[in-house]
Amino acid sequence: MSLIHKTAAELGALIASGETSAVEVAQAHLDRIAAVEPQVNAFLHVDAETTLAQARRVDERLAAGEELGPLAGVPIAHKDVFTTTDMPTTAGSKILEGWRPPYDATVTRRLREAGLVILGKTNLDEFAMGSSTENSAYGVTRNPWDLSRIPGGSSGGSSAAVAAYEAPLSTGTDTGGSIRQPAAVTGIVGMKPTYGGSSRYGLIAFASSLDTPGPFARTVLDAALLHEAFSGHDAMDSTSIDAAVPRVAEAAREGDVAGLRIGVVKEFGGDGYQPGVLARFRETVELLESLGAKVVEVSCPSFTTALPAYYLIAPSECSSNLARFDAMRYGLRVGDDGTRSAEEVMALTRAQGFGPEVKRRIILGTYALSSGYYDAYYGQAQKVRTLIARDFEAAFHQVDVLVSPTTPTTAFPIGERADDPMAMYLADLCTIPTNLAGNAAISVPCGLADEDGLPVGLQIMAPVLGDDRCYRVGAAVERALTDRWGGGLLSKAPAL
Ligand code: GLN
Repeated sequence: MSLIHKTAAELGALIASGETSAVEVAQAHLDRIAAVEPQVNAFLHVDAETTLAQARRVDERLAAGEELGPLAGVPIAHKDVFTTTDMPTTAGSKILEGWRPPYDATVTRRLREAGLVILGKTNLDEFAMGSSTENSAYGVTRNPWDLSRIPGGSSGGSSAAVAAYEAPLSTGTDTGGSIRQPAAVTGIVGMKPTYGGSSRYGLIAFASSLDTPGPFARTVLDAALLHEAFSGHDAMDSTSIDAAVPRVAEAAREGDVAGLRIGVVKEFGGDGYQPGVLARFRETVELLESLGAKVVEVSCPSFTTALPAYYLIAPSECSSNLARFDAMRYGLRVGDDGTRSAEEVMALTRAQGFGPEVKRRIILGTYALSSGYYDAYYGQAQKVRTLIARDFEAAFHQVDVLVSPTTPTTAFPIGERADDPMAMYLADLCTIPTNLAGNAAISVPCGLADEDGLPVGLQIMAPVLGDDRCYRVGAAVERALTDRWGGGLLSKAPAL
């Protein structure tokens, strides 16, 4: 099997034993990137020299006997919303075109410390606002399963890179579903850790009370290894949780669900869901039952109000966070010809630098936070948020994890929802409650929809700091389905 088809765990072991080197593995992935990027467009920035220099450094550290952990020398694609000192960071926006950050995000720094080799920065919806990566200022990314379809979003470059074997691992951020939804529609694994379990320091902010860095991989164990590599307390992030990282790799290795109580969320299904998605979901629930889990239906009535609450809270926070892009400190500056005031330059820069979706959210958020409407909109949405957290709390008294389809539909065609924000927002119907409550959730592949032959994701939700349960259940599903299919789901994808 070629190097690009191996898992991250396998690559780490081969590099550690000296059977191959970090340089050789990096080169194999750079070659793959060169071959498929014209079709996929997952990356905004690839720089072979910088990547190979990192790989050489890892080989030297290993040769010197340094203990680097299981992912030393393994390549990774990094979402272009994390700051990196050796590569530009744009957040998919014109307003940051060419910006070179003066510091590394904590996630970036920890990747480097663990010896991961950064291949480049991946495409995303501008400032992580979207579900299709069509909102990027730098062009669309295509789904490797069907190049006429979206790879999900906002972390669509990261999901496409892993699904197209350009990288065994990638990073994402999940504010309303931006890791789980792209993972689901590209047939890979994507995890949103507990809020505060992974650091936001150096992550360009969208909605600070929701933003959560997390891993993408082709296997549950690989995702768990990456999760452990970059998670844990960070004094630079005031909302970081000062607790041990849940033992997710161990849970992924065990993958045992006997006796586990699994709740099927009653509110997620029915109208608006693609029949093929529901069919695969139901079969997977039966599979879990056959593996010894106890399945019950659980009602979470407030989950139906999560989407509107999110679309008040997230834009409100974004309107405040994006105020810093003022043409004075970072990136783009338009119309500064000596005749205009600072305010005029700011207005011209923001008008040209931000795309339509970002402007829509800034306007919506500014309105929701304005003094006359604050209580009616933002205040009300925060109350809904509390109700959702209570639904989770009540549910987790009855069951160990909750399950649902990750998304109502499979990957939709590029352009189909581009002019219909409401249709686009529905892609995150099932993922948003978890962001509002701050708990953990994963998406793992559970089959192909009959109508279109495209991947379907199973979402597994666990309590705050119960991240290990997501991996345990995910690994059980993965093991059983891999046996049934005679390989991972991606082995069924059309070759690029
Ligand atoms: N699609 C959602 C949005 O546009 C979620 C984005 C995200 O998780 N970053 O807000």
